[in-house]
Amino acid sequence: MASTFVDTAKITVKAGKGGNGAVAFHREKYVAAGGPDGGDGGRGGDVILVADNHLTTLMDFRYRRKYAAEAGADGSGARCSGRDGADLTIKVPTGTVVRDAQTGEVIRDMSDGKPFVLARGGRGGWGNQHFATPTRQAPRFAKPGLPGETREVILELKLLADVGLVGFPNVGKSTLLSVVSKANPKIANYHFTTLMPNLGVVWVEEGVSFVMADIPGIIEGASEGAGLGHDFLRHIDRCRLLVHLVDVSGSEGRDPIEDFDAICRELEQYSPELASRPMIVAANKCDLCYDREEIDRFRAYVEGKGLACLELSAAAHQGVRELVWEIARRLRDLPPVKYYEPEYTAPAAPPVETAGPVKIWQEDGVWHVEAAWLDQLMESVNFGDYESRSWFDQKLRASGLFDQLEAEGIADGDTVDLYGLQFEYQR
Ligand code: GDP
Ligand code: MG
Repeated sequence: MASTFVDTAKITVKAGKGGNGAVAFHREKYVAAGGPDGGDGGRGGDVILVADNHLTTLMDFRYRRKYAAEAGADGSGARCSGRDGADLTIKVPTGTVVRDAQTGEVIRDMSDGKPFVLARGGRGGWGNQHFATPTRQAPRFAKPGLPGETREVILELKLLADVGLVGFPNVGKSTLLSVVSKANPKIANYHFTTLMPNLGVVWVEEGVSFVMADIPGIIEGASEGAGLGHDFLRHIDRCRLLVHLVDVSGSEGRDPIEDFDAICRELEQYSPELASRPMIVAANKCDLCYDREEIDRFRAYVEGKGLACLELSAAAHQGVRELVWEIARRLRDLPPVKYYEPEYTAPAAPPVETAGPVKIWQEDGVWHVEAAWLDQLMESVNFGDYESRSWFDQKLRASGLFDQLEAEGIADGDTVDLYGLQFEYQR
């Protein structure tokens, strides 16, 4: 049963490859030689993450670890562009933190409700329509589509809640949540019933509400990896305030002070920072207490640690309203829910070099140019786009290539061929 709870998952996503550009020539009856009219390949689909408020577990990712968006279709003749590949949308619970699987760095915190493009589809290749040339030569040249991005990431669920309920199993956490909110958690009289975290919105008064998380039971020894607790504690990492629920009735033969200390130790071992988070202690099941001294002893102990202690009977709805008000009062002065800032920035595209050896030769009156940097430069140009073409033109001029061609004796009106891209030279 415990194994059905999943709050981390490692997945690989792959965006779609761009479609290939087409090599095609215009054909029409009675027209002897048509120009190049091969269309561009379609763009590959993106892989997009979307936060979903209804999900509270990453369970689905246990069974499926690989996700791929659709490839773009190839271009075809008559300037037909290939269809773009469809984006792939993956739903994750709101509050999922996305990390790079290799470095562990935070890529994105899915808690602001905005979709996030995790992997970008590859650009479609250009068809030979872009290589139309003023000369007689028709280019048999088109570009393949670029591959889509691939990413391996770790998803980690950190629920978005203002208040986290902590305490031993069976102390009444689920009962309390169901009483103060519309959430409908499972309530049962045996341990480890709560294996899914539950979130509930607690309405306080007009315009004031907060979100409370009932996280699955922490058990002793859990922070040393003995049990479930460690995974569960992750869910309250963001909480601004902890409500520590203790069964003071002794109905299960437990000592409330020992229970209280055990949970505090678990918190401390998991994270000293979490242990020092603001906390309210709620002494529950007071309806079952026949010994007032027991409660007073517990209260004195807790207050001795500088914490507020409220008496409660979640099942009998006693003291519940007072607890809600106290929580709201404390939240007013606390900083907002923690947001995980991205630590990871995608590696910037390498600067486009325009330096390096250039090979120039003349063949059938056409000037051919080859250079490693040129090939790379052309890869980053979208020849279907005017801005991109003029950026390319500027880069070429800045590279000094034209000076070299001049030195070799090029004249205005000559044809230049850059890897199949032909144009008429104009100084
Ligand atoms: P959790 O494991 O902490 O979520 O505990 P549950 O909310 O599932 O409650 C465990 C059992 O304690 C259930 O049978 C509840 O009905 C009972 N319970 C919860 N709160 C109270 C209370 O204030 N008084 C009494 N008598 N029983 C309670
Ligand atoms: Mg429960």
